Amino acid sequence: MIPFVDLKSQYKAVQPGLEEAVLEVLRSGQYIQGPQVQQLEERLADYAGVRHCVSCASGTDALVIALMAEGIGPGDAVFAPPFTFVATAEAIALVGATPVFVDIEPRTFNLDPLKLEQAIRAVKEDDATLHPLPQAAEPLTPKAVIPVDLFGLPAEYRVINGIASPESITVIEDAAQSFGGELDGHNAGGLAEIGCTSFFPAKPLGCYGDGGALFTDDAAQAELFKSIRVHGQGEDRYENVRLGITGRLDTIQAAVLLQKLTIFNDELARRQQVADLYDELISAAGLELVTPEVPDGYRSAWAQYTLMAADAKARETFRSNLAAASVPSTIYYPKPLHLQEAFANLGYSRGDFPVSEECADRVFSLPMHPYLEPETVRLVVNALKD
Ligand SMILES: *Cc1c(COP(=O)(O)O)cnc(C)c1O
Repeated sequence: MIPFVDLKSQYKAVQPGLEEAVLEVLRSGQYIQGPQVQQLEERLADYAGVRHCVSCASGTDALVIALMAEGIGPGDAVFAPPFTFVATAEAIALVGATPVFVDIEPRTFNLDPLKLEQAIRAVKEDDATLHPLPQAAEPLTPKAVIPVDLFGLPAEYRVINGIASPESITVIEDAAQSFGGELDGHNAGGLAEIGCTSFFPAKPLGCYGDGGALFTDDAAQAELFKSIRVHGQGEDRYENVRLGITGRLDTIQAAVLLQKLTIFNDELARRQQVADLYDELISAAGLELVTPEVPDGYRSAWAQYTLMAADAKARETFRSNLAAASVPSTIYYPKPLHLQEAFANLGYSRGDFPVSEECADRVFSLPMHPYLEPETVRLVVNALKD
């Protein structure tokens, strides 16, 4: 069986240094906020091209910390796409704010800036005829937008930042899947006022457990993230100046990430080669499949290689062809968030976000990781054909 994501091959690529680094942490006794954590934060800030990085316990915590730092809560509207991993909207609801879903563009799977403009107007005028709005007890105040860099491709920050800024809406980049991606030479994580990423093992840069990070150019904001990360602590450890969470990254995971960073650029280049070969072979095979779009000026981190079939039935045929050849495939995401039970209280219904609904019916993802050999890529594409 071909692995969908091959973490074992990656482990072999870093094994000696990584095992030594983890042992060093075990022997040091500094399991919480050891020196590796700060070292990692400096490296990551450099990598993302921003002044400050604050590591944390997961990508979800990064989003929650960002929203808490902005003082976002009940009565506030936070815009987000419904075609994403649940954590994007979950974080909004966890702080008591209301997710206002905004549909995506079908070619990039990312937030549609024109629809964002309509949604902002609809919230400000409390007029659901302008754009589908959630049920809310009282009119909402637009506070933030969380564009998601889905499957590794950054969202349209050139336009989104321009729409949000005059409205005093904070842009929080969900770069959980895109760390290593780029827009106009700037790295993902640094494309908006606040960047959030995840180091879940299957993400482009993953640790061996849960982990995440926040990015900002603002020193005061970075201090706020650090305080919220540890129960809202003040200057002194036992002085609590606000509410926070237990949101620290483990020292062991920081040591793992420092080692993985040494091969990260090489891995990104390999992912690009895999994507290029998929593009070439799938186009040459003349299959009725839409390959992923990477617009000019963008680089994807290729968290996923996602195809769009003509309809749900065609997708099932392709997926059973793959399964017959022992090739795994996955559907990210089979049900958009506005139709999930967890968000039923928002009162959305089928038809509210037709592009997301259609993508959920038509997309599927092929095996994608840096250690996929060209022969295996050929085997996967041949399996699609049969
Ligand atoms: C993985 C993911 C998250 C959450 O990250 P965790 O580290 O699993 O909490 C958030 N948003 C998106 C788009 C993700 O893919």
